[in-house]
Amino acid sequence: MGVDIGLRQLAVASVQSPAGKEINRQFHNGNQVGFIRKKYRSLRRKLGQTKKINAIEKINDKEQRWMTDLNHKISRQLINFAVQEGVGTIVMENLENIRQTAQSLNRADRNLHNWSFYQLQNFIEYKAKLTGIKVEYVDPKYTSQCCSKCSQVKKSNRKRNLYSCDCGNHIHADLNASRNISCLG
Ligand SMILES: [Zn+2]
Repeated sequence: MGVDIGLRQLAVASVQSPAGKEINRQFHNGNQVGFIRKKYRSLRRKLGQTKKINAIEKINDKEQRWMTDLNHKISRQLINFAVQEGVGTIVMENLENIRQTAQSLNRADRNLHNWSFYQLQNFIEYKAKLTGIKVEYVDPKYTSQCCSKCSQVKKSNRKRNLYSCDCGNHIHADLNASRNISCLG
């Protein structure tokens, strides 16, 4: 099972047969995260003007706890899904790629995302090992640019959420990446 971790989709899992055919998939979208983070950001901004540092720190802690909770839930669902599908190995990208996908964000947002991505991977790895599932990491180079159907590497094939190739492969970009990850493992 390949797991792609990202911004718009927090996690996309693709289960593949040994022959490389997709058997099942699972999406965890990040819409709710964007909404919650906006709420905390506006709370912080209001407090910033009155310099209530302790209150701001409390909000930061609250946001981190919320994110940690969510990462626990997502990793739990991913592992349950993997067990249900009889998965032997979970394959993920190492974190270099995540830093690149987050380049468009400001530094504070990027730090939070990096922290959260890293935590989600750790939770997945930890829970996988408890159930006897192996975890492998692959070089993230090209997993988002390569076509999961014909293996052509073309940067312009990826336009935001959509991956579109001349060979007729038109799918969700994160699903394309998770298929590539699972066949690289
Ligand atoms: Zn193609």
